[in-house]
Amino acid sequence: MMNILPFIDENSLKTIELLNLSHPEFMVVTEQFRFEVDQISQTNQWKSAGQLISKHLTIKTPIQEMHILHFADLEILVGTLSSEDVAYLKTLGNVIHELLHCLGIMHSMSRYDRDKFLKINYESMDDTDRLNYDYYDSTESIQAVPFEYGSAMTYSSNSIAQPRNEQYLYTMGNRRTTFYDIYALYTAYQCSCPSKIDCKNGGVPNAADCTVCFCPDGFGGKFCEDAPNFSKTLMAEAEWAEFSTSFGYDGLSEWEFKDFTIFIEAPKDKTIQVILSRMDNFGCLVRCSWNGVEIKHMGDPRITNPLICCTDHSLFNSTVTSKLNPTPVILYTRGSKQEITLKYRFIDRNLADLPKTNNSFDSFEYPL
Ligand SMILES: [Zn+2]
Repeated sequence: MMNILPFIDENSLKTIELLNLSHPEFMVVTEQFRFEVDQISQTNQWKSAGQLISKHLTIKTPIQEMHILHFADLEILVGTLSSEDVAYLKTLGNVIHELLHCLGIMHSMSRYDRDKFLKINYESMDDTDRLNYDYYDSTESIQAVPFEYGSAMTYSSNSIAQPRNEQYLYTMGNRRTTFYDIYALYTAYQCSCPSKIDCKNGGVPNAADCTVCFCPDGFGGKFCEDAPNFSKTLMAEAEWAEFSTSFGYDGLSEWEFKDFTIFIEAPKDKTIQVILSRMDNFGCLVRCSWNGVEIKHMGDPRITNPLICCTDHSLFNSTVTSKLNPTPVILYTRGSKQEITLKYRFIDRNLADLPKTNNSFDSFEYPL
């Protein structure tokens, strides 16, 4: 390969397909023939091609070292997938969507409870849409987690499917992998730990390291009680206080997904209120794909709350009373630099007095 690839005109090379020509039938999958791409992935030709195909050869080089981010179209066999690879792929949106399909996870709009959450317009469907928007009944599928508008497996809102709860209009189709996306895999593959550890805020024992918890977005530490990495903790008082910050940077590449959490704490018997009062330089787009703010205020700490990237969102500039203490406010970006201002305080109401519910998929309880 290195005898050929560096000499091909990089401007006209569109597709790189790896085939095992030494095998008499080079189209068959040769599991035992593993191929290193560490050298060829350094060439300009590799970096300028749009499509990479290796359907018949297993690639041995770790995904993170393969320089694959620029490929618009990728169809490859890999030998292994480590937890670092998955963390890396999490930043890539559509890649994780397809990967979850490979592992058996279907679209959210194919769930049999989807009509409770989505308004489906059957009239505007063509045959392909019918395939994508058909649903599987309970004999064909398992629903291991609740319906989640923010799941990486939900399509954007469009002429066919709209959220029944309009606060999620810009959340559908976002491609941040969620806690429930991964938790669905835990259930499907029966990942668990032999002994229980006491995870807080909806976290579960991390099947890859049973001494720590796997935490919902916005929470961190060993037991999901603390602020996550890359965060700023604020202590709320009875009076409104204000906090402004910028995040991201000019020239941020779309592949360098960044997130940052503002972790608002209050005494245990109080309730936190937040106002997102300023948003500058956000991309107001369907599915908040470039950047957005998520105020985790609903009872279930695991689920993705409505994403805000537009100033016409009903949660912008309005008082949000949180059912979580602490309340994480998650900022994320894959493009340029944004600025926000938050106001926050606590009121004299004890969250423990609220009635409790659970998501009916497991026994974890949270305020209704
Ligand atoms: Zn899909």
